[in-house]
Amino acid sequence: MIRARLLFSLLLVSPFAVHAQSDSVIANQYKPAADKLIEASLADGQGYANLAYLCDHIGKRISGSEPLERAIAWSADLMKKEGLTNVTVQPVMVPKWVRGKESGSIVAPVEKPLHMLGLGMSVGTEVGGITAEVVVVSNFEALAKLGRKGVEGKIVLYDAPYEGYGKTVMYRAAGASQAAALGAVGMLVRSITPLAMQTPHTGALQYDPKLPKIPAAAISPEDAMMLSRLYAEGQPVKVHLDMEAHMDADAQSGNVMGEIVGSEHPEEIVVLGGHIDSWDVGQGAQDDGSGIMATLAAVAEIKKLGMVPKRTIRVVFWVNEENGDAGGIAYRKMLGDKLSTQVAAIEMDGGAEAPVGYGYGSVGGRRRAVPGAAVQAAPPKLAPAEQHSLELLQQIGTLLKPIGADKVTEGGGGSDIAPMMKDGVPGLGEVTTAAHYFDWHHTEADTLDKVDPKEFRKNVASLAVMTWVLADMPEKLAGHKGVEGE
Ligand SMILES: [Zn+2]
Repeated sequence: MIRARLLFSLLLVSPFAVHAQSDSVIANQYKPAADKLIEASLADGQGYANLAYLCDHIGKRISGSEPLERAIAWSADLMKKEGLTNVTVQPVMVPKWVRGKESGSIVAPVEKPLHMLGLGMSVGTEVGGITAEVVVVSNFEALAKLGRKGVEGKIVLYDAPYEGYGKTVMYRAAGASQAAALGAVGMLVRSITPLAMQTPHTGALQYDPKLPKIPAAAISPEDAMMLSRLYAEGQPVKVHLDMEAHMDADAQSGNVMGEIVGSEHPEEIVVLGGHIDSWDVGQGAQDDGSGIMATLAAVAEIKKLGMVPKRTIRVVFWVNEENGDAGGIAYRKMLGDKLSTQVAAIEMDGGAEAPVGYGYGSVGGRRRAVPGAAVQAAPPKLAPAEQHSLELLQQIGTLLKPIGADKVTEGGGGSDIAPMMKDGVPGLGEVTTAAHYFDWHHTEADTLDKVDPKEFRKNVASLAVMTWVLADMPEKLAGHKGVEGE
């Protein structure tokens, strides 16, 4: 009986042992630490409590607003309370876009108010608003076909069905200028969302500086589809749009950061974080309150367990991701020629639904693929060093199997770490199921109740493990300037 059992266990163990020697050294070495971090993170409610405070007591926090500055001061205090050192606010100037009062309505052939939200960075209408005929297109090709004759003096509605955020968001981002190029006086866009719940989704637009700036707003998918139907009937469809939106002078703001200083290589830094600003609607709960509070909670967990990594861990709450990326750009600038101090960068900006793993962005950010952001059509092949790093990350990923977050795939990053990645810092995007993220994204409905406490804690656990191993393991990831080919 004993012999049989021994044989049985040998059969079970030996393939694993061979595997362990070849490519699971890191996973084996860090298994006890990872299990400890996962257990502690899943049992800790502090991170979610912090998120609740941020959402309910500070709330929405657009760049240039008073609540954002309150959130920054509160976050710096919180980092100190969690025991982090070198807590600082890096000064950053941010654009200040002000929505003002706004409304829109169909005035012909029927009368009906529109569920609308002006797009971030949009100009306002003239005082009293504009009334114009609407032309409806479902893509840029259809707009081009209409030509100047069909578009001049009109409001263009992009009624593009949702085909994933990355594919559809171009109408929101570039639609106003494309319409203005043909003489349009206003632009409406069907909200970039898979869910129709009479909820408009805002988000930033980018004006082409060479073209006239025209007012632009998102409308609910339902209203977009109704306008489409009326337009298809063939009679003139008219809309009235009244927006006070404008830019004020740039405002003083900042990136908040704090550290656990490394014991052996304090000058080498694993940086992780999300963005502290949000849109001026909802509470910025999923986007990106969950990202900043989960990354801080992960670092706090390491601190609470008394674990000291070999490298420094730095958590950063970047500012102004939503309408300018000033925080990420200023952080990159601050590093100057000391870019090689950043051993790895992790961003969480896809909400806190159940985590599934990470996307590895590799050298130069060539494979930046945040859930949502545009993915490069044909990314260059992985260099051998990058391939090795991907496999190393996949090994670390196996430590996250207990919480289902063990998938590490090629392509990932985030807007805030993109300026670093572009110059060679290996970046990781924390990836979740994002099953409902774009249902709430940039709306009045992005509120605390959308963040499930259990799923939030799993994100904390995942971040704690990945951060710990990257900050403690002997190797570094490829993409890091100076260690390429390592
Ligand atoms: Zn975000």
